[in-house]
Amino acid sequence: MAFRRSIYKSRAQLEAMVEPGLITAAALEAVRGAVRPGITTGELDAIADRVIVDRGAESNFKLVRGYRNATCISVNDQVVHGIPGSRVLQPGDIVSIDAGAQYRGWNGDSAITLVVPDEAQTARVQARQQLSDVTEGSMWAGIAAMASAKHLGDISAAIEDHILAAGPSGVSGKPYGILREYVGHGIGRKMHEAPSLFNYRTPDRGAEVRPGLVLAIEPMVTAGSDQTYVEDDDWTVTTTDGSDGSHWEHSVALHDGGIWVLTAPDGGAAGLAAFGVTPAPLA
Ligand code: MG
Ligand code: MG
Repeated sequence: MAFRRSIYKSRAQLEAMVEPGLITAAALEAVRGAVRPGITTGELDAIADRVIVDRGAESNFKLVRGYRNATCISVNDQVVHGIPGSRVLQPGDIVSIDAGAQYRGWNGDSAITLVVPDEAQTARVQARQQLSDVTEGSMWAGIAAMASAKHLGDISAAIEDHILAAGPSGVSGKPYGILREYVGHGIGRKMHEAPSLFNYRTPDRGAEVRPGLVLAIEPMVTAGSDQTYVEDDDWTVTTTDGSDGSHWEHSVALHDGGIWVLTAPDGGAAGLAAFGVTPAPLA
């Protein structure tokens, strides 16, 4: 029998997503504090896993068939889905960490990008920080748009506009690339649910945006081409032209009172301030 879950959740269901969101945020905050030259991506993964397990949750990444880690960690020309392991972070590397917790049957999903501290503030290091800032800004633009959007396409347009407005990348001199094969998604009982959320305009205006919708908003941006390939490990998504990649993500709930960023302890208040949007607590 075919069964399709509604993409709009009840208030009680939204409230059940608060704790997995906070656990996901705590895991990434712990990783953020540990990123430094000389640490391995595998060590960062263990830090995230420990936080998730200590809070009585489990990594939803480990529930993905064939995947054994609590995080995906992608370095430099890797954009998403990098596998943590023995790679040692170097000064000036740009590294994205993607993590999620499942708690009492509900999921959180979030990602951050950081530039590994480097005393030599070269143009390349600065350009990498700029790439991360543009990507993060486009995520917040999309989240802010969700507060007043009529359809998913309004959110997609806000993300794309923010990236295009940034002009060319400081390192390649080319316009930033927006990955088209990988997109944001609904989230709830499963980490990946309908609907898909594109990070660029499409001819279809998309599903209606109304209370009960929970989206993982996650722009994936490169300093060059938007073309990628999957490495021989069958997971890691890497740019074909070798340009740097960046990835930011938050899980965001829309409810009767407004929006609340589930994977930010402040509900997104700091990130949304620039857009004149104030988040409204769920509980
Ligand atoms: Mg993610
Ligand atoms: Mg996601």
